[in-house]
Amino acid sequence: MYKSFFLLGNWKANGSLQQVRDFCAEVRSLKVPIGITPILAPPFPYLDMMKLLLPQGYGLAAQTCQASSFTGQITAPMLKDVGCGWVLIGHGERQESFQEVRQQILSVQGEGMIPIVCVGEKDPDSVLDVLDQQCGHYFQDIPEGYWVAYEPIWAIGSGKTPDGKHLKKVSEYLKQKLHLPLLYGGSVNSTTVFPLLSSQLWSGFLVGKASLKACDWMALIQQIKNCILLK
Ligand code: PEP
Repeated sequence: MYKSFFLLGNWKANGSLQQVRDFCAEVRSLKVPIGITPILAPPFPYLDMMKLLLPQGYGLAAQTCQASSFTGQITAPMLKDVGCGWVLIGHGERQESFQEVRQQILSVQGEGMIPIVCVGEKDPDSVLDVLDQQCGHYFQDIPEGYWVAYEPIWAIGSGKTPDGKHLKKVSEYLKQKLHLPLLYGGSVNSTTVFPLLSSQLWSGFLVGKASLKACDWMALIQQIKNCILLK
């Protein structure tokens, strides 16, 4: 476990200027607890506004970036410029090639931001084979300074979370290969979080649906705070 517990909210292709304003105004009612670092990743057009309105203690992340500079692409220097500290790379929904993921990691690192690289399987039975392949292709000769988010694709948005045995196997595997902050993502919310947190396998969570409404997000932060205090 790291000094702070990270909670990264991925808004995916959701949101509007009004939603950013409302969300940021509502989350002001909850002081960020010591030991928790909440980070929000809205769609690109809302990064700037979110940076302006998020309360103290929050970080800003982007959902992806491109390593090349063709028309319409968003690059790491732009993300740095609008205040991002982290960039999600290789999210399961994006289906990028190994090469694209590697280039994105390097471009994010080149700007002094932290890449959070998503790994995870479609079929739980193939988990270690898939992770082996992804880690081999993504991280060979990549300097330290990236984080990894284990997101089983079948758990994203499905309401299902892996059982403790599966998660222990995965985190032990990843920890003996990589010495990094490890995040878990896939249907994390205030009702599923307790076993995930008490297993003490993770340095943070990547959260989709439960990051969209301020009330769900704050309920999750409260639960994490309570669990951390219980330790
Ligand atoms: C995600 O999209 O990265 C995610 C984890 O979504 P959800 O929490 O909705 O499963």
